[in-house]
Amino acid sequence: MDTTTAERIVAGLSKVALVVRHAQWAASGERGLTPTQSQILAIIAAAPGPQGMGVKAVAGHMAVTMGTASEAVAALVDKGLLRKEADEADGRAVVLRLTAMGKREAARAPERPGAIVEAAEAMPEGERAVLLRGLVGMVRTMQERGMVPAARMCVECRFFRPNEHPGKGKPHHCLFIGAPIGDADLRLDCAEMEPAEAPARARLWEVFINGEPLDQHGPGHARPGVRASKSRRAESPSLKGASK
Ligand code: SF4
Repeated sequence: MDTTTAERIVAGLSKVALVVRHAQWAASGERGLTPTQSQILAIIAAAPGPQGMGVKAVAGHMAVTMGTASEAVAALVDKGLLRKEADEADGRAVVLRLTAMGKREAARAPERPGAIVEAAEAMPEGERAVLLRGLVGMVRTMQERGMVPAARMCVECRFFRPNEHPGKGKPHHCLFIGAPIGDADLRLDCAEMEPAEAPARARLWEVFINGEPLDQHGPGHARPGVRASKSRRAESPSLKGASK
């Protein structure tokens, strides 16, 4: 039976997912945790600020039901890895914080299966960049359809300037670090990401896939009498041309 390219992509991704699941179960099993419990520890450890996270936020990050998240959280509390505390901002709400043991356990959690990292590293750099670009597009579509939680991606970040350096090996620009970035550098979970406004996000994506810069005044376009700053984070990083 003939299959479409999309179906063959799904078949390939399923094989990758199989290895990921296997590695997660193996790593978590050694530590007496389920993959869901390991993920919860990692999510709470990576949460910005000391205020902890509610169960609803944890469930949203993992794209699981409240019931699944609550069950895993209860098990982590029983194991002494998490504690529930009253939310300082809303006394009726409960937030989750890692205990000292939970912090140690979260630090041990493998972020990604080594076998997949090795397979990706074995690819020629150009192919890796194309694959990453394609994955960014897939994740963005699934995110728009509410299938996965919002990812902290370059293509939705107010610091991202696609195609600012046309024809260069690193054609895009990150205003946060003040440097060019290439497709192989695109981030799917960047701690510094700050979401652009909704209309600007659509414009960012449009110029990213069309291979055009956002406007003619970005850091890749020298203007007479204006020296490019090293990092523009301190300047207003509003998206010029975003409302076009
Ligand atoms: S801050 Fe992070 S997400 Fe934003 S453009 Fe730079 S690398 Fe990408």
